[in-house]
Amino acid sequence: MSQTTHPTDIFALLREAQHQLDQGFATLPAASTPALDPDAEAILNEAAERLHDNYPYAHPLYAGQMLKPPHPIARAAYALAMSVNPNNHALDGGRASSAMEVEAVAALATMFGWPQHLGHLTSGGTFANLEALWVAGQLAPSKKIVASDQAHYTHSRISSVLGLPFVAVSSDNNGCMDLHALEQLLRSGEVGTVVVTLGTTAIGSVDPLDRIFALRDQYSFRIHVDAAYGGYFTLAGNLAPATRAAYDAIPQADSIVVDPHKHGLQPYGCGAILFRDPTVGRFYKHDSPYTYFSSKDLHLGEISLECSRAGASAVALWTTQRLLPYTSGGKFARGLEDGRNAALELNRRIVADARFIVPISGPQLDIVFWTVRSSQQTPEASSALASRIFDEAAHFDLHLALASLPIHLFPTETFPGHSSGYVTCLRSVLMKPEHLAWIDAIWQRLDQATAHVLVEPI
Ligand SMILES: *Cc1c(COP(=O)(O)O)cnc(C)c1O
Repeated sequence: MSQTTHPTDIFALLREAQHQLDQGFATLPAASTPALDPDAEAILNEAAERLHDNYPYAHPLYAGQMLKPPHPIARAAYALAMSVNPNNHALDGGRASSAMEVEAVAALATMFGWPQHLGHLTSGGTFANLEALWVAGQLAPSKKIVASDQAHYTHSRISSVLGLPFVAVSSDNNGCMDLHALEQLLRSGEVGTVVVTLGTTAIGSVDPLDRIFALRDQYSFRIHVDAAYGGYFTLAGNLAPATRAAYDAIPQADSIVVDPHKHGLQPYGCGAILFRDPTVGRFYKHDSPYTYFSSKDLHLGEISLECSRAGASAVALWTTQRLLPYTSGGKFARGLEDGRNAALELNRRIVADARFIVPISGPQLDIVFWTVRSSQQTPEASSALASRIFDEAAHFDLHLALASLPIHLFPTETFPGHSSGYVTCLRSVLMKPEHLAWIDAIWQRLDQATAHVLVEPI
């Protein structure tokens, strides 16, 4: 290895960092570490074998569900923190990791253009959304929570847990919240909070946040942005103008959720909730005035509904942010742009292929979905073909996903005589930057799998 070659072995870096960490406790009297049980090696290998029973999520030919491998430095930082196993519930459970959490969450807030905020990491997007809607309910008890019918399914369940009425607003032909339908609901005066999804989980559609804000001139309501999957795209330089306009409106939102374990290169167990107004901390706190929350001694356990939380998640996120800062044009942002370019390229090839039918709207972020043309021109026939291509592609090591999606997302002539209902579509989330370089390999396999299925009509 020459002097200028960077090491590729993250385990070697981890060993070095572990030594560095151990040095910090070297003044303590030596305590013997219990020897590993003789069976440990065999059992660990057995676990490795069990884990073969998975799709190859980290490989670029896995282009199905919303799964992205954590960055090697996040894995190493998480493992490093495990020798301390800090609990960010309270400062005496994890001093350093709590400080790192405050910094990591501030970096998220800065990314969204918020000079001040109240926020923390959570176990995931669901719990982060629960906190957002809990605060919404505290501010406007018994008022309605409204989200589009393409919003994450947990919003209606969370509302039910919180005892708040929930209403789904219909989505338009692009899968975005229908503003006429929304305005009709707003007229009733019963809406407390509108959940605006920037990047829906199924198809990556982006609700028009900028235009929803315009409705606040006439109606009063709170806006929660669910950007669990799509939030980081605010850094991408290659969004379509309407999508960009939605992202540019984020600074005016009341709360926002983003999942570092979706697009932020983190291991699972890492969501984040941010409130623009730090004084909402008063709802969490029971024995201190709210000024406590703008003091330097922020106690994360007192602004979270969860008690124990993995300090290791904060260490992993902080470390990854140091390596890949959230700057537009930076390496992290370019990774998001590459995934989106991969999605645009795959979509372009599908558009040009007569065997497939694409939806009315092209990919807004990095999710592509399409249906299969059938001679019967029915959703049932197209659904059956999609399922068979999905299975066949896996034989070529290409792993796609299936999604049941509203027919109205496709041009009206796609299924004559069918104006409502669902069709099973092929779907691909191209969220790894490597997908761009692998698009030929992906397309070649999709082409072969489709040819195999269509050679014998059903
Ligand atoms: C993934 C997702 C959620 C749920 O987040 P989890 O981390 O899976 O709990 C909520 N909303 C959106 C838009 C998501 O994509």
